[in-house]
This record gives sequence, C-alpha cells and structure tokens, in this order.
Amino acid sequence: MRKIVVAIDGYSACGKSTTAKETARILGYRYIDSGAMYRAMTLYFLDHHIAITNPKDIARALEKVRITFQVNSAGATITFLNGVNVEREIREMRISEFVSQVSTIQAVRHAMVDQQRRMGKERAIVMDGRDIGTVVFPQAELKLFMSADILVRAFRRQKELLSRDEMVDVDTIVENLLKRDKIDSTRKESPLRKAVDAIEIDTTHITIEEQVDEVVRLALTRMVKAGK
Ligand code: C5P
Repeated sequence: MRKIVVAIDGYSACGKSTTAKETARILGYRYIDSGAMYRAMTLYFLDHHIAITNPKDIARALEKVRITFQVNSAGATITFLNGVNVEREIREMRISEFVSQVSTIQAVRHAMVDQQRRMGKERAIVMDGRDIGTVVFPQAELKLFMSADILVRAFRRQKELLSRDEMVDVDTIVENLLKRDKIDSTRKESPLRKAVDAIEIDTTHITIEEQVDEVVRLALTRMVKAGK
C-alpha cells in the first residue's frame, strides 16, 4: 500500500489530536501536532518578552528557535523547544490565551509551514492543525475537518486541563475557545477553513473510538487507492 498524508483540521478540542495520534499509531505513521509548534513559539515569545508587533524581534526569535519532537517510551510525542521538554507548559491556559495572536504573524506561519512540509516529505504522516489540508499539504490524500458543539468542546478541554492539575471554569474555557475560533478563522494568513475536498466529522455525539475507526477506515481506503 502507498504511504499517504492524512491532514486533520478543525476547531480546538474537537478530538483532533487524540484521533490523529491513535490513527498514526494504528497505521504505523508519524504523528505531528502542528498546534504544539505554534504553542512552543508562543512560549518563547512570552518568556523572552518579545513584542509581536516588532518584525525585527520576530525574525531574530525565529532564527533562535528550534522546535523538535521525540516519542517517549510510552509512545507519547513530546515537544522540545531548543532542546528543553515543554510539552506540559505549552498546554497551560496562559499559552492558550496568546497563541492565536502569535499564529496570525506571517513570518511565524511561513517558518512553521516550511518545517511541517519537511517533516511530511517522506509521507506516512498524520498531521493535525488549522491549515494542514488547505496550505501545508493541499495534495494530502485524506483530509478531514472536525467540529463539535461548543459546550462539549469546553468540557473536554476542562477534563484535559484537570488531568494536568489546572482547574479552569467552563465559562473561561468557552470564552477562550470562541475567541480563538474567531481569530483563527478570520485571520488574513491561511485562516481556518474546511478544504473543499475535506470530509467533515462532527464529533459531538461520537466517541473517540468511533472517530478513530472511521478515520483509519478512510485512510486504508485512500492508501489502497493511492497504490493503484
Ligand atoms: O491545536 P491547538 O489548539 O493546540 O492549536 C493552538 C493554536 O495554534 C490554534 O488556536 C491556532 O491559533 C494555532 N494553530 C494554527 N495553525 C495550525 C495549528 C495551530 O494557526 N496548523
């Protein structure tokens, strides 16, 4: 079977990452969380007090930043920023509150997209994000677009934050998700939108297992088709 690219886009907390991770594991593919790259960049900007309105500072920061991924012994993908494990820090609310602003910066997007394309050169990759099927891999053999009811998304995110010992009330999470949805879908540079050839999956009433089954089934069909 031919190796393919699986591009999963959609709103935050719709189950994209969980589905992408599990699908990659089943297919024996590499999983890349493109959101983690924007989050790591945001952490760098915050920690180094970089004004995101200053193009020179942004360019200097981009030269200094190296974002890499490693798979640990439990099979989880860990994000590194200049060699330091930042996987936990980048999921904190202080990052979620600022990441969408950082993601509107053209220079940042260009640098991230270049790196994402290099990682996908060998294909056999599942990548999730906002612009994977539209900009990063417009030729991806399988494109999915995930959405879900806002409250369901907020409760899922709250559970995830709690598992990391961060207690945030649902209203604050709803506000953050809606704010990010708005910035992500209205920005000038590669806004979040469904690719015309993407398959839409509403995850409000389906379990993670059902999502994964469906995505793996679709991927296998595309792999067979791509090999012909
Ligand atoms: O997927 P996650 O919620 O971790 O992404 C965090 C933020 O990173 C998004 O809200 C969006 O602003 C940005 N992002 C992006 N393009 C991607 C992935 C994430 O702009 N491909």
